[in-house]
Amino acid sequence: MSLKKTDPQIAKSLQKEINRQRQGLELIPSENFVSEAVLKALGSPLTNKYSEGYPGKRYYGGNQFIDEIESLAIDRAKKLFNAQHVNIQPYSGSPANLEVYFSFLEPGDTIMGMNLAHGGHLTHGHPVNLSGKIFNFIQYGVDKKTHLIDYDQVEKLAKKYKPKIIISGATAYPRIIKFKKFHEIAQKVGALSMADIAHIAGLIIGKAHPSPFPFTDIVTTTTHKTLRGPRGAMILCKEKYAQIIDKTVFPGMQGGPHNHTTAAIAVALKEASKPSFKTYVHQIVKNAKTLAQSLKQNGLDLISNGTDNHLILVDLIKTNVTGKQAEKALEQVGIYVNKNMIPYDPRTPFNPSGIRLGTPALTTRGMKEKQMKLIGQLIAQVIYNIDNKQVLKKVSQTVKQLTKAYPLYPNLKI
Ligand SMILES: *Cc1c(COP(=O)(O)O)cnc(C)c1O
Repeated sequence: MSLKKTDPQIAKSLQKEINRQRQGLELIPSENFVSEAVLKALGSPLTNKYSEGYPGKRYYGGNQFIDEIESLAIDRAKKLFNAQHVNIQPYSGSPANLEVYFSFLEPGDTIMGMNLAHGGHLTHGHPVNLSGKIFNFIQYGVDKKTHLIDYDQVEKLAKKYKPKIIISGATAYPRIIKFKKFHEIAQKVGALSMADIAHIAGLIIGKAHPSPFPFTDIVTTTTHKTLRGPRGAMILCKEKYAQIIDKTVFPGMQGGPHNHTTAAIAVALKEASKPSFKTYVHQIVKNAKTLAQSLKQNGLDLISNGTDNHLILVDLIKTNVTGKQAEKALEQVGIYVNKNMIPYDPRTPFNPSGIRLGTPALTTRGMKEKQMKLIGQLIAQVIYNIDNKQVLKKVSQTVKQLTKAYPLYPNLKI
């Protein structure tokens, strides 16, 4: 029975969402388009199976083939990242981070992470998140002028507060993260070093960003951002932490792993091991640099004045347009970005002073520098003409033409 016949309502919404993805310019830096092979693994009968435990040590029968799949996924991840141990079962990036904290900390213990407004993730100790409620998070940030991580501040805070873990990694930081430096600071104060590479995992595999391996104690990552796999996560660590991490993931925090996701991660890792993936991630960075240049040439300010990676933070303060207004106006013309706090933001998270853009998804569609230059112009036109219906209409037409030339899932049928 087809989805259309069984559930026409969901089928209709799904079709509309596929069309939106096809006809829009997807610039949200945490998003990407997975391959049809990844989609196949995800939408497979693997979702039917219970397999609590780990390969060779399951609490349910019938796991012979699930063991094959999970072992392959683990081996591929170990090899690609040069990691000693991998747990592929975390349901997503947020639980993966909590699983690391609960492996090594007691409630109330001190840990360091990056401030959300400066680029850190919610799970790095924001007060509204479980992480910030349970643990004593000390937050570091970026320098007010350069917008670069202030490593002297990180070291000073680490010496003063003696955290048990120091987290590096960010969700809105457009520059290189010095994982080695973080690890050295952690060593000086007897802390574990943890890197959350959710955004840049793909860049690390393709050598477009320095790696936290093999020196960092524990690394978490999502699998659905630059890595271009299904929604999921992994924890990678030194062998000496393998047992405690595995025990915290299952049975500590989770039940049965999502085997369809595990298989889809394995497929994505296989794709990421090909030379073409290296070309892809280097193109992501080239595209981001070109887009940044174009935005600047068209009169917009950027946090840290540019980018080294896949993402760009636009500082809208001088435009008198807020992040929320910009996100909405751009959405109306088919350009998708997200509103975002900027360092030392005078506004609030729900209506902040910035927007965050990234190039992983459009690079997957095959767009290159020439298209980025044009997209920078279009974004600036929308922001500077936010109430001009004629300009918005014209931009909208250009977006339609542009996306038509880069087909997405041309053979996909629901
Ligand atoms: C996206 C992200 C996460 C969380 O991932 P979810 O899968 O959305 O839970 C964690 N850390 C960082 C740095 C991220 O960018």
